[in-house]
Amino acid sequence: MVNVGILGATGMVGQRFIERLGDHPQFELTALTASKRSAGKKYEDAATWYLDSKIPEVAEDVVVVDTDPNEVKDVDIVFSALPADIAAVVEPQFAEAGMIVASNASAMRMEPDVPLVIPEINPEHLELVEIQQKNRGWEGFIVTNPNCSTIALAMTLKPLYDHYNIERVYVSTMQAVSGAGYSGVPSMAIVDNLVPFIGEEEEKMELETLHLLGDFDGESVTPASFGVSTSCHRVAVLDGHTEAVFIEMEDEFEVDDIKNSFAEFRGLPQKLGLYSAPKNPVIVREEDNRPQPRMDRNAERGMAVSVGRIRKDEVFDRSFKYVLVGHNTIRGAAGASILNAELINEIM
Ligand code: NAP
Repeated sequence: MVNVGILGATGMVGQRFIERLGDHPQFELTALTASKRSAGKKYEDAATWYLDSKIPEVAEDVVVVDTDPNEVKDVDIVFSALPADIAAVVEPQFAEAGMIVASNASAMRMEPDVPLVIPEINPEHLELVEIQQKNRGWEGFIVTNPNCSTIALAMTLKPLYDHYNIERVYVSTMQAVSGAGYSGVPSMAIVDNLVPFIGEEEEKMELETLHLLGDFDGESVTPASFGVSTSCHRVAVLDGHTEAVFIEMEDEFEVDDIKNSFAEFRGLPQKLGLYSAPKNPVIVREEDNRPQPRMDRNAERGMAVSVGRIRKDEVFDRSFKYVLVGHNTIRGAAGASILNAELINEIM
């Protein structure tokens, strides 16, 4: 078993990590960290547990420690669910101390020597690790996963990108409140309401999507070159991001072929049979009223993205549109980092 820890274990994403690592066949959860406010308390006293499941026994009585590499002993991999400003300082310290950091935070995602990875899409970007360790003199390293809305979008663009020339992508998101963390969106702001702005989200989606689909030449990543434009909105849904996607292709296409590209999409995690890998990464729904967050966010234990309403655009040439739903704290966060770590554990 590989000893693992969670940085920021008391938060929204931290709790998802705990839920999914409680009975993991390769990873043994041995350390939990949070802020000084929580350090020294038993986990069940430190965290406001918000998930339907019980706190796994392995975590209940663990004493939370400060987020400091000197406090985390005999751990090989740490999963980071820290706020970005804290992650920017602390994640390099953990990598320097020799640990593998699998991070959800945005702090290091666009560093040229830090892999930003979705295992089904760009596992080869992990080769950047060697360059990172050489550049920074670290024994450990940092690997990141994208922002939650980017992951769901990129999972559906990859099968298209493999078969077609995409010209432009427009996306309008309807994002769950859990995406902002436990104390992120006050109930007075969101109940009976919609907030048409999520700070830095549009920029992240646009940059990260093109980076994920970019070419890696063994040294650096050249982003994909089609246009991506997004508009991001917070809605009164607890978990599960919905996105309305509009795509203009360079050439003509058949809608049935698009559906087949989604349905047949498989990547390296499926080939390797990784524990957290969904059998069908992209699930095609044919009903007019699907996908919906409440019904589809937990597909394949929250690791698959569901797409539906796939239809030709009757107004614009060479265009089609669809709606997707992905679980933001599972496929979009904790599950994504764990899948990255499973891949690293398998191939590196
Ligand atoms: P959250 O609920 O606010 O949790 C933040 C965690 O960080 C808590 O454990 C908190 O501990 C800890 N923390 C705060 N300040 C700290 C400090 N100064 N030193 C050490 N630990 C500190 O946030 P979240 O939603 O889980 O998000 C965590 C990260 O994942 C963020 O970078 C976020 O952008 C990213 N992310 C989130 C989602 C999502 O859907 N929620 C998806 C993708 C990525 P205390 O309890 O002690 O304060």
